Amino acid sequence: MATSLPQPVQRLIDTLSRLPGIGPKMAARLAIHLLSRPARERTELTDALTALSLEVHTCPRCGYLSTGELCDICTDTSRTRSICVVQGPLDVVALERSGSFRGLYHVLGGVLSPLDGIGPEELRIASLVTRVQELLADTNSGAVEVLLATNPSLEGEATALYIQRALANLENDQLSITRIARGLPVGSDIEYADPATLTRALEGRSNL
Ligand SMILES: [Zn+2]
Repeated sequence: MATSLPQPVQRLIDTLSRLPGIGPKMAARLAIHLLSRPARERTELTDALTALSLEVHTCPRCGYLSTGELCDICTDTSRTRSICVVQGPLDVVALERSGSFRGLYHVLGGVLSPLDGIGPEELRIASLVTRVQELLADTNSGAVEVLLATNPSLEGEATALYIQRALANLENDQLSITRIARGLPVGSDIEYADPATLTRALEGRSNL
């Protein structure tokens, strides 16, 4: 019988293997590396994971990450009534870093991808429509802009088109729907874009 690793080690390897971009070999190397480090470093990792579970949740309004009831962006009253629609939380971080957008966000949690079984119900699209309706109904808020900033990929474009149609059904002339400009190369990720490229893309946004 072949020698196998002790069960706790194998369990860690199996867990790490489920992370994106980490195969079984990399998972095994990480596990052995962690075992070779002082116990204090493993405790730091455990504590960080525990805090993640206990303290961080998804903002019920926008889908960004939060440690309070609503996230810091939703509770920031100095922001404009533009809603920038993005795929994931790291897109928010990248756009905030660019400093070119001072509105609100809506994090979809992905893009439409029928082959992967991701339809509109799997994304925060219905809650976006409701949120826009509520903003439009608020007589104090005036015009509302929805800026579609999904990645310039096939799925990102299809998702932007789907949302554009869903919002167009609201038939409200106070609502403008814009799409981030093609300052970003096709196939790139907003998450990795540099601030200058993001600024150009934001400045060049167009009406849909
Ligand atoms: Zn929020």
